[in-house]
Amino acid sequence: MRYYPTMGLEIHAELLTKSKVFCSCSAEFGGEPNTRCCPVCSGLPGTLPVLNRRAVEYIIKAGYVMNCDISRFTKWDRKNYFYPDLPKAYQISQMPRPVCLDGHVDIKVNDEDKTIRINRIHLEEDAGKLTHEGRISLADYNRCGIPLIEIVTEPDFHSAEEVVAFFEKIKLLLLYAGICDCKMEQGSIRCDVNISIAPEGSEQLGTRTELKNLNSLKAIAKAIEAEIARQAEMLDNGGEIVQETRRFNEAAMETLAMRSKEDAHDYRYFPDPDIPPIIFTEEELADIRATLPEMPEQRMARYRTAYGISENDAVIIVSDKRVSDFFDEAVDGCKSPKNVASYLVGEFMRRVNLGEIDLDVLKFSGKDFARLVEYLYSDKLSQNNAKLILGEMAQHGGSPETIADEQELWIKEDTEQLSAVIDEIIASNPKASEQYRSGDQKVFGFFMGQANKALKGAASPKAIQEQLIAKLRR
Ligand SMILES: [Zn+2]
Repeated sequence: MRYYPTMGLEIHAELLTKSKVFCSCSAEFGGEPNTRCCPVCSGLPGTLPVLNRRAVEYIIKAGYVMNCDISRFTKWDRKNYFYPDLPKAYQISQMPRPVCLDGHVDIKVNDEDKTIRINRIHLEEDAGKLTHEGRISLADYNRCGIPLIEIVTEPDFHSAEEVVAFFEKIKLLLLYAGICDCKMEQGSIRCDVNISIAPEGSEQLGTRTELKNLNSLKAIAKAIEAEIARQAEMLDNGGEIVQETRRFNEAAMETLAMRSKEDAHDYRYFPDPDIPPIIFTEEELADIRATLPEMPEQRMARYRTAYGISENDAVIIVSDKRVSDFFDEAVDGCKSPKNVASYLVGEFMRRVNLGEIDLDVLKFSGKDFARLVEYLYSDKLSQNNAKLILGEMAQHGGSPETIADEQELWIKEDTEQLSAVIDEIIASNPKASEQYRSGDQKVFGFFMGQANKALKGAASPKAIQEQLIAKLRR
């Protein structure tokens, strides 16, 4: 039978606050186990949590960039569960009155626009980290109490591609808003997928399972495909899908049952008596909204109108905030932003994709890059030598001028040298010269190649071409 998959996501993102959400412990990633803990975040009796104001600002920002309604009244609840990653035995979270409700985010999949509805975004505390070594389990509570937002979507996804596109868009929005560093490998953003299948044409959704602990985009896509296949096989063989939480084993390309899925009432939610509810005024919300930085769509519009950059180039530049920030630095005060954009999207990105340029530790500035592009487009550097210099800058840093000076890479106005080299090439290739003179234009490329090789970028292609034509016609 043919089945139609339906999916919804729960994305957890750690907020980039300096301290934890209910105490003043550092919220930074890492640290020796259990060195960033205090009586509050390790759940000692008699302690009182105090809500981090910055975390509340950040979730409101998240709500705005995902087009949510911000609740004027919001409050916190206790989600009770007993598990060693949470010493209090309850997590402070939000149930009926989350900060953000009813949003939407637009994505593009295979050139088609699609809108994904956001059900809610709430603020809660992260749990600790357990490491299992044989029969021993180790608990590290440094992560316990780091502010976490949970973004819950409506079941609007019907393919792994849509899920991946949405997840990438959310990462981009959070990064631009400056509220999460989105380092999947450090667990600062995580994605759970609720997934069910139903016979094609059926109105009713099937029983869903939840995929957890997916730690890369690749794992998300593969896990979804494996789970769809597993559910389809199960139904085809007359089996029944059990509502449960499953994890993905990437090596075996299969999902495995972890535990049966709890319903909300199993957590016995009740209002947290330690954290007072918040009532936001319109002014407070407006003030927070005003601090939102320029978002990707706004940057794209600016690139297109202010610099005349093609849509394609603009999309590539804004889809990585580091690239976009670099571009902004490069074009500030630069005469030809369009040339900078096309060299950035071409040669620069090629090297990023090859791993030759590391965007996290760039060894040259945007200004250095802009000047390199200017030299290239004003015939002061050949294509090859510009590439050579960019490679050098990527590896060791330094300005394009210093590298070009040291390695003698500038195009020279030395017509004597050019003239001598071309005489030499023509003299040592009498047959090809004869061919050209008798009307065979194709050999011209051969001469250009020879001249480029001999001159190593010391003359501009235009100058070489002029000299060659003049001398070959003689
Ligand atoms: Zn603490």
